[in-house]
Amino acid sequence: MSKIINGKECAQILNTNLKNSIKQLKVKRKPKLIIIQIGNNLASNKYIKNKLKACDEVGIIGELKKFDENIDKNSLKLEIEKINKNLSIDGLIVQLPLPSHIDEKEITNFISPSKDVDGFNALTLGNIMLNNSKIYPATPLGILKLLEWKDIDLSGKNVVIIGRSNIVGKPLTNMLINKSATVTTCNTKTKNLKDICKKADILISAAGRANLVTKKFVNKNMTVIDVGANFVNGKYCGDVKFNEVSKIVKYITPVPGGVGPMTIACLLQNTFTLYKIKETNLK
Ligand code: NAP
Repeated sequence: MSKIINGKECAQILNTNLKNSIKQLKVKRKPKLIIIQIGNNLASNKYIKNKLKACDEVGIIGELKKFDENIDKNSLKLEIEKINKNLSIDGLIVQLPLPSHIDEKEITNFISPSKDVDGFNALTLGNIMLNNSKIYPATPLGILKLLEWKDIDLSGKNVVIIGRSNIVGKPLTNMLINKSATVTTCNTKTKNLKDICKKADILISAAGRANLVTKKFVNKNMTVIDVGANFVNGKYCGDVKFNEVSKIVKYITPVPGGVGPMTIACLLQNTFTLYKIKETNLK
């Protein structure tokens, strides 16, 4: 069995199943996702294009609403409010980063939890902590789905996460605890990072630092999940020194082709989940 956890393949399976579920819908209305973009960030352009393409492939109506870089906070909130109230829309993404004059936390909290496909709203995150959420941020959800796909059990496992961000490390920590894993969440102040990592059954790196995880961080029974998305000399890479680490560990995700495709697949899953909740409530 291959030690490479192929995220592209797993995402394709999820997308095909989703496409079939959408095809078989008895109600006429299709799931709909709106993406709000402020300004013209080049990386955002690329991410948005990929999300809209993925929507199209599975039969979700994806729509981009683009606003000028200088839009003020209140005008943006008015646009969000219109979408929050629109019953024919199931999901809303406000593409980050936002221009510096707009507070990202205030905006993500203004998105109705019933449309929060990104899972960044404080209420969604609180429910995740309480193990009472239908929606999970797409990247942590994608990681859990990859592990499940490979039959890697989490109960009782020692999991080390490098990174404590609100979109990856923190929700993932809670989701893993809820699966009965024993979790250590590291940050830049963590002492003896290498030694902590080396003892893990599963090591998840979400630091955004190329070449951080070397052979000194791993053991032969370990599963390594590389969330990092870095560019070094124009080349896309993760946080893990893949060539040396992959020779030692039991399982590893590549970059590209690991966590990345799962993130988009899980955004689509979240849109469909919110669609189903809405349709059930309307009955
Ligand atoms: P972030 O907000 O920058 O957080 C990075 C976290 O890593 C912080 O908590 C930071 O610690 C910690 N960290 C950084 N360097 C470290 C080091 N040397 N030792 C220990 N901890 C360290 O980043 P993010 O949004 O979570 O994203 C992390 C990476 O994943 C980025 O490369 C991002 O592009 C990528 N990403 C990929 C996907 C995907 O779909 N593939 C999705 C989301 C994110 P402090 O808190 O102490 O600063």
